[in-house]
Amino acid sequence: MSKSLDDIRLISIESLNHILLKNKFPLYRSKQIKNWTTKIDIKSFDEMLNLPRDLINFLKKNFKLNHAHILSVQKSSDKTVKYAIKLHDGLVIESVLIPSNDRITACVSSQAGCSLDCNFCATSQLKRMRNLEAYEIFDQIMILNKESINYFSSSISNIVFMGMGEPLLNYKNVIESIDYITSDYGIGISYKKITVSTSGISKMIKKMADDNVKFNLAVSLHSAIENTRNKIMPFSKSFPIKDLVESLEYWYEKTKRRITFEYLIWNNINDDFDHINALVSICKRIPSKINMIEYNSIGNSNFESADEIWINNYLNILKDNKIPVSIRRSRGKDIQAACGQLANKH
Ligand code: SAH
Repeated sequence: MSKSLDDIRLISIESLNHILLKNKFPLYRSKQIKNWTTKIDIKSFDEMLNLPRDLINFLKKNFKLNHAHILSVQKSSDKTVKYAIKLHDGLVIESVLIPSNDRITACVSSQAGCSLDCNFCATSQLKRMRNLEAYEIFDQIMILNKESINYFSSSISNIVFMGMGEPLLNYKNVIESIDYITSDYGIGISYKKITVSTSGISKMIKKMADDNVKFNLAVSLHSAIENTRNKIMPFSKSFPIKDLVESLEYWYEKTKRRITFEYLIWNNINDDFDHINALVSICKRIPSKINMIEYNSIGNSNFESADEIWINNYLNILKDNKIPVSIRRSRGKDIQAACGQLANKH
């Protein structure tokens, strides 16, 4: 076993079997241990009541059991709930539960802070502190699920990686957490109900396609014109639109799953026919649908929502070209829980 201790919850049952066997513990204990690890209220190995003392001592010596916990809760007038969750080293992330008629969506974070520099997003003004470990993402979702059951009398039905951070810059841990959350030890949610949103890290999109992942992909596009995109999302200079489009074509070829483009329309930035036409031409190459997101003001930024007339121009031209488009109204604005507003201001 390695020197730095692994978190017990992310050890596969096969590895656990192997470790137990090697250390002369009966195999049926691994299932008992795994069952305990799904209970988020368990804070230490001592609470695993049906295990003998020598096994508890062995686990304590060889594994860790770090739990995240809720630091604060804010409830919006529209029933959205935002959680500040404190990690074992004191860093804080935010997550949101968004109830609607037929679903409860959990918006989860993949990093503490964010590695990217989108000028319109409050999270990008925080420093990226670190990637979340797979078990921390798992914990976050287990905590949210428990809250969802308490608060809305229903488990979460959808998960979107649209909280803090860029999931594809923490790829391995995000994938591991998704595999875990969809397993028997998770919350019984299917891959189809999970969406990972990326700002467009093209080489990782190709890797995801190669890895044959089963969840949905969303891309925060906001402009299909290189110059504009580079201005509003400066990191994207390293990920030219040509490469992004190529990686998305590759994704579709491999997965046959349509992607979602997230798109904001701002005054004097992308409110013109050149931008509309560029978007249409990308959507013609890549089977996709568009989610128009309402811009949420984040203070000290020069961004301003475009006039209604431009939103309608986009809608009409996309519809004329048979490109599916919907408008996503923001939820939880009054508690700074909407897209782009997560900035640890609890
Ligand atoms: N880094 C990933 C995951 C974050 S998702 C990504 O960018 O996709 C958060 C979504 O909210 C992204 O689509 C982002 O572009 C959008 N967003 C950021 N700031 C916003 C704001 N102020 N108003 C509305 N949407 C915003």
